[in-house]
Amino acid sequence: MPTCEICGKETDHVNSVLVDGVRMKACETCSSYGKKVRERKVRTKIRKRNKSKKRPDEFNLAPEYGKKVRKARENKDLKQEELAKKINEPSSVIKRIENEKMKPSEKLVSKLEGTLGVSLKFEPDTEVDIDREDEDEPLTLGDVVKIKKNES
Ligand SMILES: [Zn+2]
Repeated sequence: MPTCEICGKETDHVNSVLVDGVRMKACETCSSYGKKVRERKVRTKIRKRNKSKKRPDEFNLAPEYGKKVRKARENKDLKQEELAKKINEPSSVIKRIENEKMKPSEKLVSKLEGTLGVSLKFEPDTEVDIDREDEDEPLTLGDVVKIKKNES
């Protein structure tokens, strides 16, 4: 248990206080004799990530990727088990992907794409990369309209 450096009492909690410019650990009672010092927290700078910039390991799955897989698989006349074998995965994985109960990893997506000859990644036609000073402020509808106009 910490001890108050002013009255010498053991206490659950001591405050850092300045007494005549001297920093001391004081109990609640003695804290009132001095000026409380706020413990300086170590600041960790967290850089704001620009939302429009993707991390290299990030990718977007195409909407309805499950349907795409199923359709492509059926086009190739493959059973879930057969496709699973081709890409070295349990058929339960295929089932879950087709039902969109599971998001395949990028590696798995590549395997599926290679085997089925489809694209399962979502690629927007135009990537709008807007540099804005005030990132906290969401785009207003007016801004969006302006951007769209500028694009054409
Ligand atoms: Zn005290």
